[in-house]
Amino acid sequence: MTLPCGMRTPEDWRSRLPQLLPAPGWRTRFAPAPTGYLHLGHLVNALHVWGIARAFGGIVVLRIEDHDRTRSRPEYEQALLDDLVWLGFTPDVYDIPSFRADSDVHPARQSNQDVRYGAALEHLSARGLVYPCRCTRRDIAQLVPHAPGEEARYPGSCRDAMVPTAETFARRVRLSDECIRFHDLRLGTLAQTPQQQGGDLLVRDRHAQWTYQFAVVVDDMAHDIDVVIRGEDLLPSTGRQMQLASLLGRPRPMRVLHHTLLVHPDGSKLSKATHDTSLRDLRAGGATAAHLLAEAARRAGLSEIEAIASRDVASLFAGH
Ligand SMILES: [Zn+2]
Repeated sequence: MTLPCGMRTPEDWRSRLPQLLPAPGWRTRFAPAPTGYLHLGHLVNALHVWGIARAFGGIVVLRIEDHDRTRSRPEYEQALLDDLVWLGFTPDVYDIPSFRADSDVHPARQSNQDVRYGAALEHLSARGLVYPCRCTRRDIAQLVPHAPGEEARYPGSCRDAMVPTAETFARRVRLSDECIRFHDLRLGTLAQTPQQQGGDLLVRDRHAQWTYQFAVVVDDMAHDIDVVIRGEDLLPSTGRQMQLASLLGRPRPMRVLHHTLLVHPDGSKLSKATHDTSLRDLRAGGATAAHLLAEAARRAGLSEIEAIASRDVASLFAGH
């Protein structure tokens, strides 16, 4: 549960960043999924990631989050790399040799990380924290009625059912009832109890695919990410990711900043699924990178300027 306290966003949140961020040399990441073209919502995220990193001595790691192999496509990865070049956003860490499955130079990809994820699962298994789960989404929905769009809490049906490991690839991690408190660099102090939100965490599904929640925690530890900068839609995941990281042995929790999301006039979220205008289409229609960056900054409430070069995005955050 996210407490309402601290949810106010003082307009001067940018002025407090120098006190709240680690010493220069801290690492953050831009981590898109190659399941569609980048749209303005991604640009708002990139603006925060590069802007804050450039203003306050951060290092940007690029990570391709292609853990969902059924929806990820190489042509989308190439398109997003091209779009980043066009926008002028250059990652500081692009290729991580220990994250490659081959000798080619390319960004760190989740699809190359099976061995690392397997080792992390083994680490948790050795502590008795992992169990097979045979429940389908439909099973859980029937057991736990919930409103459309709301998260269904897994009720722990298989926790003590001794499901044979050979019956399914699906694995869950036991989460305690611990309340996780954290300080968001923009939203203030928050508290979540992951066990009450979603229950024991699914880390691998029945098709043997690693889940986003698990992959991202293992990756953030492996990439030494100090500060996670992402949209508010991922705020409900923060407590569980911190709890899982702690179980995996992360000594200090990551720092987080959740920024505003761009929405449609009716309040609905921008997404690939609703076919929001891609940066690719806007570019083909004659938009310049400088104007799109300014549009993203304006719609995120960061500035009202008409055009901005990517090398100047630090000015949106420094000196406030
Ligand atoms: Zn189950």
